[in-house]
Formats: sequence, C-alpha cells, structure tokens
Amino acid sequence: MTTLMEMAHSGLITKEIKNVAAKEGVDAEEVRVLLAHGELVIPKNNCSKSLPIGIGRRMRTKINANVGTSRDYADIEAEVEKAKTAEKYGADTIMDLSTGGDLDLIRRRIIDAVSVPVGSVPIYQAAYDGIESMTSDDMFNAVRKHAEDGIDFITVHAGVTRSSFQRLKSSERILDVVSRGGAFTIAWMEHNDSENPFYSEYDYLLEIAREYGVTLSLGDGMRPGCINDASDRAKFEEFIILGELVKRARAKGVQTLVEGPGHVPIDEIGLSVSAMKHLTGNAPIYLLGPLVTDIAPGYDHITAAIGGAVAGMHGADFLCMTTPSEHLALPNVEDIREGTIVTRIAAHAADLVKEGVRERARAADREMALARRDLNWSRQFGLAIDSEKAREIHARSKNVDTCSMCGELCSIKMMRRVMKK
Ligand code: SF4
Repeated sequence: MTTLMEMAHSGLITKEIKNVAAKEGVDAEEVRVLLAHGELVIPKNNCSKSLPIGIGRRMRTKINANVGTSRDYADIEAEVEKAKTAEKYGADTIMDLSTGGDLDLIRRRIIDAVSVPVGSVPIYQAAYDGIESMTSDDMFNAVRKHAEDGIDFITVHAGVTRSSFQRLKSSERILDVVSRGGAFTIAWMEHNDSENPFYSEYDYLLEIAREYGVTLSLGDGMRPGCINDASDRAKFEEFIILGELVKRARAKGVQTLVEGPGHVPIDEIGLSVSAMKHLTGNAPIYLLGPLVTDIAPGYDHITAAIGGAVAGMHGADFLCMTTPSEHLALPNVEDIREGTIVTRIAAHAADLVKEGVRERARAADREMALARRDLNWSRQFGLAIDSEKAREIHARSKNVDTCSMCGELCSIKMMRRVMKK
C-alpha cells in the first residue's frame, strides 16, 4: 500500500493534507511538500478513524497527553476517563502507556473513546511477562498488534544500541537511564548479549509501519533524567543514530517523529533542539518536557511547561504533557486536566514567536486584549485556554462590571473615561 508520505511525494494532495491545511490556515501545497520531505507528519494509521493533525514546520505546536495503567493501579474506566479529559481540555494526541491489567482491552477502549490520534509503546506489552523471557519476535508482534488495532504512532527505542550503551557506561551520569523503554531495551540487550532488534532489524520494523501507515516516534532512551546529566555524549550519540534512522525511514516512505529530552537547563534547550533538527534533516521534534529543574516535585507540570515554551521557541513541534504527579505517582483525572492546560499554555507561548504560526497565534491574544479593554467578561472566558477556571475565579468578584482586584479603582475603567473610549 502507498503511504501518505509517498502520495505526498508523488504530488498528490490527499484529504488528510487538505484537512490539516484547512485547520492550520496553511496552503495545502505547502503541507504536501513538508510531508513529502519528512518535515511534517500526519500520524494516521490506515485503519484509524482519528482526525488528521499536522505536527512539524509551519504547524501550531501540538501537545500529547499520556494516560495508562500501572502494575499497581489498573482501572480501565479511570484511564478512559483520563483520555477523554485530556481531549476535552485540548490534547492533540493521546498516548496509552499502560503496563498493568488487560493491555489489549485498555488500548482498544482508549482508541474508541477519543477522536484524536493515539500512540503507544509496544515494548511495554512485549515485556509484560518479564524482560528475560521476551524475544525479538515478541517485540515485533507487539508492534504489529498495536498497528492492527489502529494505533497512529508508535514509540520504538531504536536508538538504544550497544554503542550508545557503551557511551553511557563511560559517562558520569547520576541517573543512568530514566526512559522505561530505554531501560527495558538495555536490560534485554545485556541479558541476551545481542543488539537491540528494533535497530538490527529496523527494515522489518519499517515494513510493518509501511503496511499499516503507522508513524514511528523514535524514542529517546538515553534522555537525561536530571539536570546533572543533561547534554552529555550518550544523548548526542543517540541523536546521531536517530538521524540515520529517520533517513532510512524516509527512503521507505515511513513518517517519523524524533523524541527528545528530558531534564535540561534552560540555556541548553536551544542547543538540543537545534542539534536534533540538524541531525534529523528537520524531522518533527517531540519533547518530553524538558524539565528545567529537578527540585519541584508536585509542580513538574510547570517546570516542564517552562522548558516546553523555550523548546517551542527554538523549533520543537510537539510537547508531551507532564502532570503535577510526575516523579511521584500515577496521575489522576485532575492531574491530567491541569497538565493538559499547562502544556497548552507552553505551546501557545511558543506559537506567539514561531515562524509561520505567530500571526495566527497572536490574533487570539489581540482578541483577549480587546475583551479586557472592554471589560467584556463573557468574551474573556470564551477566549481563555481554561474557560472554566477563569469563570470560577471571577465569580468570587462581587462587582460584575470590573473585578475584585481593584474594584472601583479599576485602571481600565478609569482610562476608558479619560480617553473617552
Ligand atoms: S479591576 Fe483591576 S484587575 Fe480587574 S479588570 Fe480592572 S484593572 Fe484589571
């Protein structure tokens, strides 16, 4: 079957391209060219009913929300509720990261519950009975099973190789590997004294991805898990490998995203994003954070949003939501809501300065400024990223004309009188 990327390459403007162009207010031909070059992806499995979205250059910064069970807490209804909550509050995609309970059922229920593209990490299922008993067939069979179910994008830690692990061993990290998929892969390679099958048999992985139209999200198994470990050789070695894998995927018509760190101090975020863009030929960059400090557990949605906004300003295309429960516990529904909203704020802050997007993004801020000038509260609530919260807080104000911050000393009201507006 011809893939979306190949159709774009042959000059075809498909309905997915038209749809993305219309949503983003961009010319369809421009979307086609960027998709053909791999600078933009439309994660859409051939048998998925998800609505197409564009991630990459000239596109609004997108956000992903992670949901999923753990071995300690495997309530399917709770995870479905979290997925719906994330979609309701503006997540552009959902990833099912379940590791506990009936993984097939959870995945299928989440796919049915939302209309946005859904991603997954198949190695979590392949390793369900333990890393020691997992075979390379289990890994590829899990990828195929997820693709058959309609998963739109799949994370594979194909850049975790024996050489990148050697590099890691010679580094001076405090937290060696914090990526779950990365740790699984390294444990498997060590146990079997073999190369990572997703790397050594990458062509087979590409065949499966081609067959189902699945986008590969090349995972960052070597991402730094603390500020001390940021920007070391292991991370950059993985970027180099991922760049090579992106090139091979493009040659086979398979769309790729590239995942990035992690925990990074603010002044190194631009370097990370630029290096990733350079080494991957401008592939869409998907960042997990980056968290700009390690010392704010309970507020890591904020540490990640600060990093996400800076990363977006430097060209990151896709931000993974972090919740207040990061590093502490499995998030609940309220954490998902808060994490989604905060990540949307980071994405929008980036869009205000992003080439090709800033004009569209700034129109919303201009509308808000006009509504504030006019003390038009219902308009302000309508434009707010979190209308419910804005409405709830304003309800504490007794004076419906202004708000209780300054009341009768409202400078906006005063200046309207002075300026006769
Ligand atoms: S009362 Fe103060 S805070 Fe409230 S709208 Fe007027 S100037 Fe703004």
